Amino acid sequence: VALHPEEVAERAPASGVSARAPVLEVFASIQGEGRFVGEPQTFLRLAGCPLRCRWCDTPGSWAVAAQPEARLDTPATRRREPGWATPFQAATWIAAVEPGLPRTVSVTGGEPLMWPEFVRALKSFVAPRRVHLETAGVHPRALTRVLERVDHVSLDLKLFADLDAPVELPGNEERVPTDARAWDAARVEVLRLVRGRDACGKLIVAGGRSAAEFEPLLDDVAAHAPALPLVLQPVTPMNGVPAPAISVLTELSELARERALEVRVLPQIHRSLGIP
Ligand code: SF4
Repeated sequence: VALHPEEVAERAPASGVSARAPVLEVFASIQGEGRFVGEPQTFLRLAGCPLRCRWCDTPGSWAVAAQPEARLDTPATRRREPGWATPFQAATWIAAVEPGLPRTVSVTGGEPLMWPEFVRALKSFVAPRRVHLETAGVHPRALTRVLERVDHVSLDLKLFADLDAPVELPGNEERVPTDARAWDAARVEVLRLVRGRDACGKLIVAGGRSAAEFEPLLDDVAAHAPALPLVLQPVTPMNGVPAPAISVLTELSELARERALEVRVLPQIHRSLGIP
């Protein structure tokens, strides 16, 4: 049985958990990507991302405002709250936006691993809900800290060539890779961390890329997390970045299968449904 906000409140004083994160949005919707595509989930979007993916569909989540505002879409109304929230506060918001029975909580961003202590602590306040982490996977130290406290990791796998230069952000304790070699090393580290865990890899494929460009990435998955289910996610055309040709997705899926990887092709369904 899931906790109601009042019950969550009862647990708060005992926990002593005060790590805060800047919450941007809390809403119930349908998971549009990855292994749990189509599942009704509750989304907790945190601000802050040091990466600059060229197809990013949430650039409003990049910056960390001094006084962020959290938008809560409850079944009855849309309201705003001061965004710096403890895990306890976020749990009450999650319960408030759910239209019915408790749902799996998808912690997304931005990059939630900028706030590992918050993510670590969230689970005890939202239990028995599952907690799914959506991450770009370039914070291996932070991932190590949260792994035991999340139920699923949805790991983006991207080409360094698809990113503009990352930025340093206040609050980010871990340096993000600034060159291709460091990017590849971080990828190997996070793949080793999720090996054998409840996780999936989302390989984002933009137009203009060849299947061959992804071969080193597939080699890393095969070497370090061979059982990781892979989703090939064609980019939804964005910011002048086109969708890939179907021939590239076909070739890429064959390259994955040749490496004995479990692979499927899935576009972002929330875009076609017109939902957040
Ligand atoms: S990691 Fe996610 S939030 Fe950050 S720039 Fe890339 S797509 Fe956008």
